[in-house]
Amino acid sequence: MKKGMIILIVLIIIVATLCVIKNNNKKINEEKRNNPYQEFNFYKNEYLERYKKYQLNYPNLTAKDIVLRVNMNLDNSFYTNTKEVTKFNPLMLVNKYNYLSKNFKVPTLVSVDSFAKEGMKLDKDTKDAFIKMATDAKKKNLNLRAISTYRTYDYQANLYSNYAKSDGINNADTYSARPGFSEHHTGLAIDLDNITKIFTDFENTKEFTWMKENAYKYGFILRYPKDKENITGYIYEPWHYRYVGYKIAKYIKENNITFEEYYYEFLEKS
Ligand SMILES: [Zn+2]
Repeated sequence: MKKGMIILIVLIIIVATLCVIKNNNKKINEEKRNNPYQEFNFYKNEYLERYKKYQLNYPNLTAKDIVLRVNMNLDNSFYTNTKEVTKFNPLMLVNKYNYLSKNFKVPTLVSVDSFAKEGMKLDKDTKDAFIKMATDAKKKNLNLRAISTYRTYDYQANLYSNYAKSDGINNADTYSARPGFSEHHTGLAIDLDNITKIFTDFENTKEFTWMKENAYKYGFILRYPKDKENITGYIYEPWHYRYVGYKIAKYIKENNITFEEYYYEFLEKS
C-alpha cells in the first residue's frame, strides 16, 4: 500500500512537470510568432513597432532583413533622423543617415604620391593598401589611378551645389552626397579611373574586370553595387571603392552584401 502511494505521487509529479514544460514551449512559440525579430542579437526592443510597421510595407522580407533595415533607418527617408559620427574609426559608416560635422578631422591623413592625381590624400592604411593594389595591377599592365580621394566638407558642399544647380536636387541626390554625408570625407574611399577613359566609363575597362576579382584581396569593396540602391542610397558606382580590410572585404564579396548590411549585423553594437 505504501509503495503504491509513492508510485502515485511520483507519477503526479512527472505529469505536472510535463504540463509546465509544454506550457512554456507554447508560450515561447507564441512569443516567436508575435515577435520573430528578437532572436537576432542586433534586435532593438525600442524599435519593435517600427519593425512591425516595416514588415507590413515589405511582407516578403525576412525577419532578419526587417531588423537590419530598420536599424539602418531605412524606414525613414534619406537625410532624415540623421546621426552625427564624431570619432574617426577605420570601420566607420558614413551614409545618408550618418554624417560628419564640418570640423571633423581624419587623424591619419597622408598624401598619395603615386598612382593618383596631384594633391590626393587618404587615411594611411587605405593609402598603403591602395598602392600595393595599384602596383600589383601595374605588373599586369593595368592602370589604376586615384582621381578623387579625401574630400573636405567645403569641397563636397561646392561639388553638391554645382550638381544640384545643373541637374536638380532630386537627381543630384542619387549620385552626389550632401556635405558631411560623403564617404570621401572619411579618407577611406577612392574613385578610380584607368587614365585613358573617363571614370564614369570605368565599368568598361580591363581594370574594372580585374578589380571585380581582386579588390577584396587588398581590403577594398565596391561600395555602391548594382541593384543595392535602395540600401546604399546611391546609383551603381563601378569607380567608387571603400577600404575595410581583407577579412571584411572578403566576407562582403562572398555574401554579396553592402557595407550597411555588414555594419548593422556585426559592427554597430560592438
Ligand atoms: Zn566616390
